[in-house]
Parts: sequence; C-alpha cells; structure tokens
Amino acid sequence: MSDKFGLSGDAKAKLLARLSNRAPAQQEERARVKPSLGRPEVVADLNMVKRAGEALAIRNPYFRPHEGVAGAHTVIDGKSYDNFVSYNYLGLNGDPRVNQAAKDAIDLYGTSVSASRIVSGERPIHRAFEQALAEVYETEDAIVLVSGHATNVTVIGHLVGRDDLILHDSLSHNSIVQGALASGAQRIAFPHNDMNELERLLGASRDKAARALIVVEGHYSMDGDVPDLPRLVAIAKAYGAHLMVDEAHSLGVLGQRGHGIAERAGVDPGDVDIWMGTLSKTLSGCGGYIAASAELIDYLKNSAPGFVYSVGLPPPVAAAALASLEIMRAEPGRVTKLQANAKHFLDAARSRGLDTGPSIGAAIVPIMTGSSIVAARAADRLFDLGINVQPIIYPAVPEQAARLRFFLSSLHEVEQLERVAAAVARVLAEVRAERIDLGALANRLAAE
Ligand code: PMP
Repeated sequence: MSDKFGLSGDAKAKLLARLSNRAPAQQEERARVKPSLGRPEVVADLNMVKRAGEALAIRNPYFRPHEGVAGAHTVIDGKSYDNFVSYNYLGLNGDPRVNQAAKDAIDLYGTSVSASRIVSGERPIHRAFEQALAEVYETEDAIVLVSGHATNVTVIGHLVGRDDLILHDSLSHNSIVQGALASGAQRIAFPHNDMNELERLLGASRDKAARALIVVEGHYSMDGDVPDLPRLVAIAKAYGAHLMVDEAHSLGVLGQRGHGIAERAGVDPGDVDIWMGTLSKTLSGCGGYIAASAELIDYLKNSAPGFVYSVGLPPPVAAAALASLEIMRAEPGRVTKLQANAKHFLDAARSRGLDTGPSIGAAIVPIMTGSSIVAARAADRLFDLGINVQPIIYPAVPEQAARLRFFLSSLHEVEQLERVAAAVARVLAEVRAERIDLGALANRLAAE
C-alpha cells in the first residue's frame, strides 16, 4: 500500500537506506551493537592479571582503603600495618601544623578558588607558595598546577612541537611520555641512565630538529636510583639542548637540605632549564610545579592549556604544601632521618642476600623478585604478617623486573626496618621454595 507520498513502507525504507548509503540490515546492526570502550589489548592484560591472581588465591592488593593518615604505620580494615606504600617522605602529611594551615586557608578562602587563576582564581597563597618554590630551586619564578601528571603533559606538550626532538630516559614516568606524545615532537627513549647512548642519539638527531629537550627524573620512582646530572648538564650544553628534571621523588629526599638532585650532585640549579615536581609526596598535597626563568614561567602562566583552562590550586592544598615546604626547610633533621632510614633498610636487605637493584637507598628500595607471581605472593603473605608493601608486577614493569617496592619515610624506626627486612627475606625464601605449576596456570588461563 502506498502512503500519501506515493511510496510503500518497504520502498520508503529502501530509499532511505540508499540515501544514507547503508543497507537496512546493516543500519539495524549498527544501532544495536555498541562495542565496549577500552583498548582490547589493555583489557586483555588486566583480565589476565586478575584471573592469574584468582587462580593463585592471591588477594587483590589494589584499592585497599586506609582508614587514617598513612605514615610508618597505617590502618586497613581495622588492623594496623607496618606501612611501606606511601610517599609521605618527611612524615608531613597529617602533621598538625600542615593540617592547621589547610584549615586556616579554608576559613579564609573556602575549599575552591572557583575559577582559573588567569581570570579570577588568583589568591595570595598561590604566589606565596610559588615564590617559596623558586627560592628552593634558586630560579627566578615558579608556577603551580592542579595535578602533577597533568603538569608534565601540558608543559612538555606545550613547550615543544613537531619540528623538535624530545629525548627522555626509558624509565620516565608515564606523564613525561604522555607529554612527549602530546607535543608531536620526535620522541626518543634512551636506555636508562645511559649517558653515552644519550649523547650518541642526540648527536645523530640534533641537526634535524629545531630544538631538543632532554627529560629525566632526579630520582627514579621504581628503582630508587639517580641520573648523572653533571654529565647531563654537559651534554645539554654541548648540543644546545634544553634540560628538564622531574623532581617528584627528589624534593625533601636528595641533598642535605632536601633541595633535590642539584644539591646532591653539587650542580648549579641554574644549569637546568626546567625543574618540575609534584605536591603529592614531600609536600603532602596534590598538584605539580615548574620552577624556571621568569620568561618561561610567564609564558606558561599565559598560555599552557592545563593552567589557563584549569582551575587554580585549591587554597587548603596550596597552604598545606607551603607549610610542608617551610617545615622541610626549618627541620632538615627530617631529611637526614629519611636518608638514614632508607640506607638502613637497603643495608638490612642486602645483608640478607636480597637484590635491591640499583637503588641508592635514599627513599625508594625495590626488592627484585624477577617474577610477578613471587612478588604478588610475597606481598600477600607479608600483608598477613602486618606488613604493607606493594608488589610491582607485569604489565607495570617487564616480567623479569617484578619486585616489591618499599617507600621509606622519616617516620620509620630502625627496629621496624630490621624486623621487616628479616620478614621479607624469610617470606621470599618460602615463596621461592614453593612450586608454581606454570603449565597448569597457563592452561587454566587459556581455557577460561
Ligand atoms: N612524575 C613522577 C616521576 C611521578 O612519580 C609521578 C607520580 N607519582 C608524577 C610525575 C605525577 O604526579 P602526581 O601523582 O602528583 O599527579
């Protein structure tokens, strides 16, 4: 039967399909099937780890809620643990003076600045904090942003572009890699801490690039080792490259006063073009900063998308971070204690035959297991013994680099470190002695 336009229902559907260039069946199909989001290879990896954990009866070590401030001890599900999973390096998170500063800032400004700083989000506490950071790094100025991760992404992504070259350490944090990808610059990851290879790669590519940016970390968060800063400065100078150092795990940790890798290495901070850091570790807050020349900071303040188009740092966070920085400077004994604790734990582990990788024992000590299953099982057993340590397993690191990673704090006590090192050695020996039927595990994973 024809409708009033002279076409039957069927003919009209066909015409519509033809006009939209699609067969009716296909159109229906597209309307019904919505592929799940998430990259298939990532989903597969996550599922594999989850099923392996279940097959081996290992509890999920992720997203465990801590019920108070996580320091040398923490409470999870009502039980107290020796805690080694938090980068509360100088024990300032939860310090009554830091808490009070945050509370006072809330009373004065509220919990948000309700705008990007460039428009109407500026508060005096922002500049006070930035000036204090610039003093520590002996730079002309500094800028603070609301996320450490986003600081690397937006700053690296915004400073260099298609005609430029970024060389970063192969163990660089994800935020550095994301920033490099966002920039569109040619990106080369040089082998970890291999200065000869960096120089060779830079020499081979420098002439083809308008500008070159070398990005490294002052203290590597997985291995607890440090780069050769004097050599990096020399290489950057020789090739007319800019040098950026991520101090996320260096501030409060390295150098006599905790001023970072420059202080430890005896390098003039002015020889590094861009100092980057985070508020989430020593500074007991959340956010990121860049300390650099006034010209560079002015450029970022007026044009970096993650700053211009993002809200200003919340007042209580700025106040807590500033108070932490002030306490760090007034009480250098905290830095000394952290370094002594980390060294003590490193020695205690090594003397028991444990492999601590390349750690210098400043705050981060990995205990290499060489197997994700051994790392996960050992962390699970240690949890039962009241010791909280994170297993770092595939795919976060290559399988042979699986480990238990210990974050040390100035709050830990020597007795605790000795007891925990002994427990780790005992548990690892037990776990290694157990047979793991990898064939059966693989079959089970494949069958599911
Ligand atoms: N840089 C490094 C080296 C880091 O380890 C981290 C994360 N801990 C970040 C940047 C990102 O900082 P945030 O977690 O404060 O966003």
